[in-house]
Amino acid sequence: MPRYLRPAWFKTLGQLVAALAAAALLGWLAGHPWPVLALAALGVVAWHYWRLRKVLLRLTARQRLAPAQGSGVWNELDRLLYRGQAEMRSRKRRLLGILRAYRAAAAALPDAVVVVDRNSQRVLWFNEAATALLGLQYPADIDKPVGERLQPLSLAHWLAAGRNAEPLLDAPSPIDPNLRLNLRLIPYSDEYWLLVARDVSKLLRLEQVRRDFVANVSHELRTPLTVVHGYLDMIDPDDHPEWTPMLAEMQKQSQRMTRLVEDLLTLSRLEAQDSLPDESVAMAPMLSTLKREAEALSQGRHRIEAQDEAGVDLWGSNKELHSAFSNLVSNAVRYTPAGGSIAIRFAREGDGAMLSVRDTGYGIPEQHIPRITERFYRVSASRSRESGGTGLGLSIVKHVLNLHQARLEIESRVGHGSTFSVHFNADRVHARDTAPTVAPAAHSQTA
Ligand code: ADP
Repeated sequence: MPRYLRPAWFKTLGQLVAALAAAALLGWLAGHPWPVLALAALGVVAWHYWRLRKVLLRLTARQRLAPAQGSGVWNELDRLLYRGQAEMRSRKRRLLGILRAYRAAAAALPDAVVVVDRNSQRVLWFNEAATALLGLQYPADIDKPVGERLQPLSLAHWLAAGRNAEPLLDAPSPIDPNLRLNLRLIPYSDEYWLLVARDVSKLLRLEQVRRDFVANVSHELRTPLTVVHGYLDMIDPDDHPEWTPMLAEMQKQSQRMTRLVEDLLTLSRLEAQDSLPDESVAMAPMLSTLKREAEALSQGRHRIEAQDEAGVDLWGSNKELHSAFSNLVSNAVRYTPAGGSIAIRFAREGDGAMLSVRDTGYGIPEQHIPRITERFYRVSASRSRESGGTGLGLSIVKHVLNLHQARLEIESRVGHGSTFSVHFNADRVHARDTAPTVAPAAHSQTA
């Protein structure tokens, strides 16, 4: 027994002994000690029952207990109950405060937040922004199926994917199609999902303005550049031999600008597209073309081989895929010193297919690889410029591949070379009709 309870116990036991002793004395004086003692004992038991009843009544009434006065075990019990209740109340108050603060924070978020029951997919709670962005109304929409309430957004498949649901990046709001939303499903417990919708209309508008600006500037630059280029071509260096180096440099720079403008226009065009025509892309002639182009660019400085092992063709845009592949091939030639080798390989990969371009060139330091497909990102600007690069090639590759749901992988070791591989899903692959026109593992070394 804890030390602080001892006095209460001793007091209660003392009272019992005193009551029984008094009863015994009284009984002895009256000449009937036992009946009086039995009555007194019954009285003590009754008094204890009465106190017990009081405690039980107070507990069942769930009333706020009054702080107990006096001593003795029953008062001590009252005091302990009072203390337990006070502690519980203050804990509850604290928890409620935290909960209110969380709710207020969630309610004040500019993003729409909806708590959804995972099994029934019903709305359990939502914040104010959910009314403004998704049109949910309180209390009418509480406990309603979320997919039904967010029509015409067809979310059934998306919700069914649950944990694996990819964010919906540009969905129209159910209340205003001009409002563009970014929807994310976050399964934060076994029972609840969080549906978060962010208004990205402004961002998308800005993005559109940026795209239009780049496209317009590129377009506007095209005509003056053609004129400058034309006049430069008309000047005969033999007429002014002293201008020859200057003319050559001007021609080189105007060609570079033309390439830049063309690449920027290609990027703008690709960005504006959601999908590309699905044609059959014959890979055998594609590989021959890529090999020919590499040889033309290499001018015999590299050993070039093309391997066609897949025996299948692709679905996609002939023009854009050729542009992406030839960007990879031209990079391999441009970033490989003379004497190196370049291997273009098209092979099956599970149900899909893979095209890789491997070189034995300079390689790319690891820290640059994640950013290499960004516009104008170059490992070495001078090397890129020297080799006639615009810094946009890999951005174009990435865009083309995105439009084909394909993925670019880059492996590289500085001083040893790089491998750029493009991975296509099974639904991009189809059986080849004709025999391959590039002999497997055809080698060439043009002198
Ligand atoms: P660029 O026109 O400069 O070649 P890209 O977008 O095609 O632009 O490539 C971006 C950068 O990636 C290049 O500047 C170069 O530093 C690096 N790079 C691309 N391909 C290779 C490669 N095969 N080997 C080494 N570096 C490469």
